Amino acid sequence: AVPVVTVDGPGGAGKGTVTQMLARKLGWHLLDSGALYRLTALAASRQGVALDDEDALADVAARLNVTFEPTPEGEPVRVILDGEDVTREIRTEKTGDGASRVAVIQPVRDALLQRQRDFRKAPGLVADGRDMGTVVFPDAPVKIFLTASAEERAQRRYLQLKGSGADVNIDQLLDEIRARDERDMNRSAAPLKPAEDAQVIDSTGLSIDEVLMKAMALVGQ
Ligand code: C5P
Repeated sequence: AVPVVTVDGPGGAGKGTVTQMLARKLGWHLLDSGALYRLTALAASRQGVALDDEDALADVAARLNVTFEPTPEGEPVRVILDGEDVTREIRTEKTGDGASRVAVIQPVRDALLQRQRDFRKAPGLVADGRDMGTVVFPDAPVKIFLTASAEERAQRRYLQLKGSGADVNIDQLLDEIRARDERDMNRSAAPLKPAEDAQVIDSTGLSIDEVLMKAMALVGQ
């Protein structure tokens, strides 16, 4: 079978950066599963579908017309929805919040399952999400669970947003992160937790390079 490295964990633990760097180093494909939940929330809002209309949301998820276009090193993968570049729009807090709401709906998760598995192509896949090791790729030979304290994740997000000139409040960010964690961990549909055979990396106090080295060691490179 085509090898898969799964990287799961709470939002803001550095999964996005680490999976992108891992995929580049290994020369493997990348799955950003969170983007699919964000796209479902965005497409629903554009189509006027309410975030509690489960059947309609599952339909939106099943019909997502999305392509991921590779970009030069260091740039985020370009995300195209219905022919329009939504790379930036899917990263807003509003879309992230919508994503975590549609993600509690089991029919939405079911609708996205095969689409995620289709990313598994030679020579290999690095998959970023919440349930990559537990649900989507339970047979993955390497499973990583990347965490960091809520305070550290809020601090990182704060610096990131401030760097882009936004007006942000760290206490509010911390509250949002805790609310998102709560929803991801306590939902009945694929709750966020490490797979039994996952290796946990706590990135609190570590640099990106240090995390990447630990991850590469787990991959056996
Ligand atoms: O990782 P990202 O912040 O882009 O994910 C957005 C939301 O999508 C998460 O808060 C989570 O609720 C949901 N998600 C999920 N399962 C995944 C990836 C993301 O439930 N595999």
